[in-house]
This record gives sequence, C-alpha cells and structure tokens, in this order.
Amino acid sequence: MTHDLDTLLGTVSARLDCAYLNGGWTPLAAGEALAVVNPTTGHVLTEVRAGTRTDLDRAVAAARSAFASFSTSPVADRLALVERIHDLILERSEALARVLTLEMGATITHARAAHVPLAAAHVKAAADVLRDYDFLTMRGSTAIVREPIGVCALITPWNWPLYQMTAKIAPALAAGCTVVLKPSELSPLSAMMLAQIIHDAGAPAGVFNLVNGTGPEVGTAMAEHPEVDMISITGSNRAGVLVAQAAAPTVKRVTQELGGKSPNVLLPDCDLEAAVPPGVMSAFRNVGQSCSAPTRMIVPRARLAEVEAIARRTVDAIIVGDPGEDATVMGPIANQAQFKRVQAMIAAGVEDGAKLVCGGPGQPEGLDHGFFVKPTVFSEVTSDMRIAVEEIFGPVLAILPYDDVDEAVAIANDTVFGLGGHVQGADLEQARAVARRIRTGQVHINYPQWDAHAPFGGYKRSGNGREYGLFGFEEYLEVKAILGFA
Ligand code: NAD
Repeated sequence: MTHDLDTLLGTVSARLDCAYLNGGWTPLAAGEALAVVNPTTGHVLTEVRAGTRTDLDRAVAAARSAFASFSTSPVADRLALVERIHDLILERSEALARVLTLEMGATITHARAAHVPLAAAHVKAAADVLRDYDFLTMRGSTAIVREPIGVCALITPWNWPLYQMTAKIAPALAAGCTVVLKPSELSPLSAMMLAQIIHDAGAPAGVFNLVNGTGPEVGTAMAEHPEVDMISITGSNRAGVLVAQAAAPTVKRVTQELGGKSPNVLLPDCDLEAAVPPGVMSAFRNVGQSCSAPTRMIVPRARLAEVEAIARRTVDAIIVGDPGEDATVMGPIANQAQFKRVQAMIAAGVEDGAKLVCGGPGQPEGLDHGFFVKPTVFSEVTSDMRIAVEEIFGPVLAILPYDDVDEAVAIANDTVFGLGGHVQGADLEQARAVARRIRTGQVHINYPQWDAHAPFGGYKRSGNGREYGLFGFEEYLEVKAILGFA
C-alpha cells in the first residue's frame, strides 16, 4: 500500500519551509534546505528548511513572553491542553506511524505498537502527574513551593523521534514551562506533525515553538542562549558534552539522556529458552537503535553453546525487509551515517577476534539498497573489545561469558555507561540482589512490562537527570522555600 506523503502530513505538507513560532507557521528565508532521506530506498523523500540563530532568537523571545501568563495558568487549563494533545496523537496515530516508517525506517507494526502509543503514554503520564501534584507543601512554618523553571530548549534525536519529543514536551508544558524544540534534522517530519497537534490542541501562542536545524547551528544557539533557563538533550555523548559546555556560562539547568551499553545478566538458574529470545529481540528492537538496548548479554560460560544456538535460531526467524510490510520484523538503519557506523563496528568485532555466531558485514541478501544491515551476534566477547565498549546503535549483540555471579556483575558494570540493565533468573531474591548491584538508572527483572512512570536516565556518562512520570515532571520545576509562610 503506498501513501502519498502530502496526504500523511496533512496541513504540514505546505509548511516544510517554516518554523512554528509564536502560535503560527512562519516561512524561513535564510536557512539551508535539509534533505529527509527514506532509509528504505536511500532516496530523498522531501526537504525541510533549517532555521538560523535569528529564527531561534525569535522562538526564544516568543517562549519568554508567553511564560509570564502560562507559568501561572490554572492547573485545569494545562491539564486540558495536555489531555487534548494526548487525544490528538491517538487520533492521528496512523499518519504518524506511516511518517515514522518513511523518515526513519521503523517497521509499520512497531510504529503502530510502540513508537506512537508509547509517545502518547508519556503525555498521559504527564497529565496524571499534574492532576495530583502538590505545588506547595509545608514543613513546619516553611512552605516549599515548586515553580516552572522557565523557557526550556529541547533537543531530540532520530531513533525514537516522537517518543523522545513527548517525553520532554509533555512534562514541560504540564509544569507550566514554555518550550522551544529542535528535533533531529534527520527526522523532522513527525516533529512538525506534533507541532500541528499542539497547535490544534489550543496551546496559547508562544507556549510551544519549533525550529528545525542542525546541532552545530540551532542546537548550540539554544545551549548558549541567555534567555533559555533549561536545556534537555537526548542524543550522543559527543553532543551532550558540547551542550553542557555551551550552556555552562549561563548556568542553565542541563539534563542529558545520552548513550548506553546496557547489560543483560542471565543468572545460572535462568531458563535459557525463556531468557535468550527476548534478550536478542530487546537488543534488536528498533533495529538496535535504542539508548537502553541490552546489547551485552552476560551468560554462564558453561551454557555458552546453548545460548549461542538459541540466539542463532532467534535471529534466523527475523524477517528483514520493507518496513511498510506487516510481516517485516526489522527494517533498515535510520540513516546513512548510522549505517556506516554499524558496518564499521561489525568489522571491528571481527578484527578484535570475537566469534561471529550469525550475521556479519555487508547487507542482507536481496537488500542491497537503502540502509539494511544483517542482524549480527558475536560470542566470546571480552570487555576490552570495541563491540563491548562502544555504543553501536544497530542490531549487534555481544555475548560475554562469566564464571561466577560476582564476575557477571563486574562485567555488567565494566563500562563508562549506566543507562539500562536486565537480569534474568528463576530465584527472584538473587535476581533482585544482582539488580541492586548494577549501576544503571533502570534495571528490568525477567522482562517486565514497560512502565511510563518508571524514572529513566543515566548513571555515569549516560547522562544527568531523569525523564518520565513524576521524576521527569520535577526536572522542569524550581524549588523555592518560603520561610515564615505559616
Ligand atoms: P547526535 O547526538 O548528533 O544528535 C542528537 C541531537 O543532538 C540532534 O537533534 C542533533 O541535531 C543535536 N546535536 C548534535 N550536535 C549538537 C551540538 N553541538 N549542540 C547541540 N545539539 C546538537 O546523534 P547522532 O549523530 O544522530 O547519532 C550518533 C550516535 O548518538 C549514535 O550512534 C548513538 O550512539 C547515539 N545516539 C543516542 C541516542 C539516545 O537516545 N541516547 C539517540 C540518538 C543517537
């Protein structure tokens, strides 16, 4: 089934050369054209117009002037706004899912089942938190007041475009902050559809603004801007560090959700038939382009051969192909730069002497167009190999053997990252104890259901701050103590 891009984009199709500023779409004259490439074909889908520093200044000015009234607006008004955004995302879910498939290659089934509904779930979570939140609590005669921090600059990546945007925008608006968004220049279409949704939901002028553009130009200007109170970035460590450096002179709040190299510890008593297939599929979810993907499977050495056989069988069943087809399990890598990086890292695994269980360099048979890669599993990986150290952001799993549980925990923690973690085991007490010893912001025991309210964020170099639910909401608040209040 083919869908005309203009039909999917709706009113946004005539706005691709615009920024969303102060409540309306404003044509951009000066910025360069940014190509949006369909990763399934490698061909240009369309172009959007990049903003400049001047455009960013206008967006920040609009957000600053809207802040005075929006920050003091009744909770009921903000709640109604956030709830309407939620409903409109669900109403437009099919078009959003189709556009995600076109702009970053998510399979249509995954876009429908995860990208869009989980993005909506962040908005619902923000509404749920706001509904019951106490902005003023007492401690003796002292009042502790929480107030919106101000103008928030939000920078988002291409891997889970819609989801990453709502995880920031929804709590920011719920808290009473005003927003300037710069989505990834590689996946701007879903962002523009979201801007239209926020417009149609009735956001007051200036409360939400979107400027497309590159990291070095618009992203840097956001981080440096003296009228921005907080900047939140999800992306690479490289970009996260540059944002923190650019933000330092103005002492704004910086939250960073960066890379990961998350461990999946299979304890000696775990049922491998239950633990390995979902472990492989979690690592390869979204073609492995998830910051918390469990890409290091840490397994008992005595059971290594069994693990490898189950992993190979799991990978053999993965249908790689056109993400628009319902039967496809894995589409292409989202963009060319990332495709090259994944190929380079697969080559590094081979060079470093890891055992190739399945997959490998090159493209899958019959898929020599676009950015398709072979789902790849390496075994006998050690913590000094590049494939165990660096975030790959592709369907590449490293299996690392251990001799005892202490060694398993040491391997799990032998990384500069600390974002996600998994533990599999029959004895829940032991699994809990191991979960407590893993130094990451989230640990999942035996593949639980996703929880939109569970705080998400990094230890170590995976970032600072937390997103989702109450913790994500409170990132957008300042704390004021008023002594002598009572
Ligand atoms: P990136 O960090 O370059 O891009 C993410 C966002 O940051 C984009 O909006 C980009 O425009 C912006 N950005 C880039 N440089 C900036 C700067 N100097 N100042 C301000 N903003 C800037 O990520 P990428 O190049 O698209 O991907 C590279 C690697 O990043 C991947 O291989 C992966 O390892 C990692 N990554 C992680 C996540 C995550 O969710 N943690 C998401 C995307 C990419």
